[in-house]
Amino acid sequence: MIPVSEAEQRILSLVQPLDRDRDTEQVPLLNAAGRVLAEPVISSLDFPHWDNSAMDGYAVRYADVQNCAPDRPVTLTIVEEIPAGYQPQKVVQSGQAARILTGSMLPAGADTVVMQEDTQRQGDRVTILTDPQPQAFVRQRGSYYQAGTPLLPAGYNLQATEIAVLAAAQQASVKVYRRPRVAILSTGSELVDLDRPLQPGQLVDSNQYALATLVAQAGAEPVPMGIVPDDPEMLRKAIAQAIATADLVLSSGGVSVGDYDYVDQILAELGADIHIRSVAIKPGKPLTVATFPTPPITPSPHHPISSPLLPSPTLYFGLPGNPASALVCCWRFVQPALKKLSGLPEPWKVSYVNAITVQPLNSDRKREAYVWGQLQLVNGSYQFKPAGGSHSSGNLINLIGTNGLAVIPAGEAAIAPGELIHVLPIP
Ligand code: AMP
Ligand code: MG
Repeated sequence: MIPVSEAEQRILSLVQPLDRDRDTEQVPLLNAAGRVLAEPVISSLDFPHWDNSAMDGYAVRYADVQNCAPDRPVTLTIVEEIPAGYQPQKVVQSGQAARILTGSMLPAGADTVVMQEDTQRQGDRVTILTDPQPQAFVRQRGSYYQAGTPLLPAGYNLQATEIAVLAAAQQASVKVYRRPRVAILSTGSELVDLDRPLQPGQLVDSNQYALATLVAQAGAEPVPMGIVPDDPEMLRKAIAQAIATADLVLSSGGVSVGDYDYVDQILAELGADIHIRSVAIKPGKPLTVATFPTPPITPSPHHPISSPLLPSPTLYFGLPGNPASALVCCWRFVQPALKKLSGLPEPWKVSYVNAITVQPLNSDRKREAYVWGQLQLVNGSYQFKPAGGSHSSGNLINLIGTNGLAVIPAGEAAIAPGELIHVLPIP
């Protein structure tokens, strides 16, 4: 049994991120939401693209208006009207102004905008009533971003704001990492899919659905592989097929010490390196983590043996079958691994928030305990309330509404209400 933090460290050291060259695809910008950028984006456009006005008002020469005051107004001649999308045709000379609207191009000659509220208009003349700051309300070309400099680095997770920036930079498509393929396998002779009539002793394979949802939420592609009974031959076939098709395999069940728990034995028979057999975590102790060595590749002119294009070893997580245990292991250990695999930059490790527990939390001291419940922001600080009812790892119903896992460190038996704790936020 190894400590939780050591298990996380060991798992992360086993993950090979997707390859920058081999594991990428070009996707239309509208399909890029939630994807990870595989190369830096550099734009040839300045932002703003040209000097423009931040206000509705008048574009003027600062030298003309610098000594203005309500008792010393200055009147200028309006030479042009500049609405949005219009390219100014005139140069503003001394004694002149141009009518300008928000976002419109600043005309040559002008360097300052006086807001409409500080002026009085009479026909083709405008009187300026206050002294503006030099360059007031002018958005300078390139002041937000300069062409040719890095706009977005590789590894960026693209959300609405980044997609908007890429659209503005005229990137119709972007190079992103492919989604990691995650095979999901449920083991157990008691399991049936949700559309089968339940016979006595049977149970619906809810883990398949829980894990597929988590995997999809992490931006990866779930590959559902169904249910495999506790039969060594069938398990061997299913596991071999899963490791051949996916970057990462999640199986649930069959990793305990029961008579029908065959997963570890089969992994060993299939030539896996088993790195973790159990972790000091509650729930989730019987967690198996293994890798399958890269299949040997015959050197060729295209793929010399030292080529970085060698496929990465498949990472295998044998999760415990109990629904809460499987989910806790996924949140705590699989998510950081998926982050690293996906091409996202560090930090990959989970991060916690500090919260006050509003109810007592109890543990058996032996393992680092994770208590599910609700995390809430109250007057600027987080409060944690454990879910009511039984915290048995078999009690799936009790997990409804979980958005945080409170951590009780190993060695601590109880945490009193009002004490500060670490909580792992659940997306
Ligand atoms: P195991 O880890 O195989 O000993 O499974 C422990 C318990 O978890 C089983 O007795 C089932 O009640 C439950 N279980 C196992 N696999 C699943 C699954 N895929 N979906 C829901 N519950 C499961
Ligand atoms: Mg089982």
